[in-house]
Amino acid sequence: MKTQQKNAHELIAQYAPQEVHYYSDPETGLKALIVIHSTALGPATGGTRFYPYQSWEVALEDALKLAQAMSYKCALAELPFGGGKGVILGDPKRDKTPQLLRAYARIVQQFNGRFTTGEEMGISADDLKIMMHETHFIAGAKGIAHDLSPVTARGVLYGLKACFQTVFGNSSLQGRTVAVQGAGKVGYHLIKLLAAEGAKIFVSDIDRRALDTVHSEFGVKIVEPPDAIYALECDAFAPCAIGGIINDTTLPLLNCKIVAGSANNQLKEPRHGDRLHEFGILYAPDYVINAGGLIAAVQDLLGGSLEKAFQETEKIYGRLLKIFELARRERLAPHRIADRIAEERLRKRH
Ligand code: NAD
Repeated sequence: MKTQQKNAHELIAQYAPQEVHYYSDPETGLKALIVIHSTALGPATGGTRFYPYQSWEVALEDALKLAQAMSYKCALAELPFGGGKGVILGDPKRDKTPQLLRAYARIVQQFNGRFTTGEEMGISADDLKIMMHETHFIAGAKGIAHDLSPVTARGVLYGLKACFQTVFGNSSLQGRTVAVQGAGKVGYHLIKLLAAEGAKIFVSDIDRRALDTVHSEFGVKIVEPPDAIYALECDAFAPCAIGGIINDTTLPLLNCKIVAGSANNQLKEPRHGDRLHEFGILYAPDYVINAGGLIAAVQDLLGGSLEKAFQETEKIYGRLLKIFELARRERLAPHRIADRIAEERLRKRH
């Protein structure tokens, strides 16, 4: 059954953002939206996505969802920032021109730091360099690192350790079986860290080259076909590819004790997190475990170092332990606890 697209009023009522800004520039063809979900904890930050949305409403829904997720992610990572998101409507391959990017960057500059942005789907580090001609408010501009995925991977490793500590009473990964879905930027670095910890690693990817690289460098076992990874017997399943992979189809197949990885929006719907809990599978809420890249981007904005970003990211271990303990005591799924903590922190500052 196809759900009907909500209109702008319904969407704004649902997500209750602080601000929504629409832009249309006939000269460059720019059509964009900037959503500030909350500045309760500090100025809003969030990447800009360039995507061929079917309509303004679809783009608005995506921006509202992503901006709210950024607020929750900042709140849980204890960062002095709020959630925001930019979306540009169009096909990046066809519509992305330096003139359009510069027009968008001039809008970002008008926020004067109340909104800072960075890389996202369809916006690369090279695009940000063009935007920097027009605005100071780009995360990553100070060049703390060319690629933030090693920091994200470190956070996932520490998150996995918290999961192992909770499930097995021991955080060691030595000899543990971990199934990694996706050997891209984060997956590659996570596999490298897992190999150094002595874990037994299984990997799936739809890209043969990515698999060949991790197989030859780390001797990992390849899972074929890629979807066989859901039913693989393992200690932990680490989704590091796409969202929505915990759903009605995959849930009955899972043969793991832990789900903990970098992918955004792993639960197709919140109820799927409740099902994981019922099945006795520990789930590390995605926006808590994958915050390393954001933590590094914020360090960059604050003039910090990469070393500090790694140190701050390791705190994901303690954060998850606390969430898991509350979940155990209250007999609730961990993602419900994480959402509640984020919402409380955002409310307190209003
Ligand atoms: P990436 O594009 O570099 O890697 C994704 C990999 O997943 C690719 O190798 C791709 O071929 C593979 N893949 C796609 N569909 C697949 C499938 N069905 N089965 C198996 N493999 C599949 O992306 P990334 O930067 O490594 O990010 C991975 C995930 O982590 C994404 O969901 C991203 O939103 C999230 N994330 C990334 C960062 C970061 O720092 N890069 C930070 C937070 C969250």
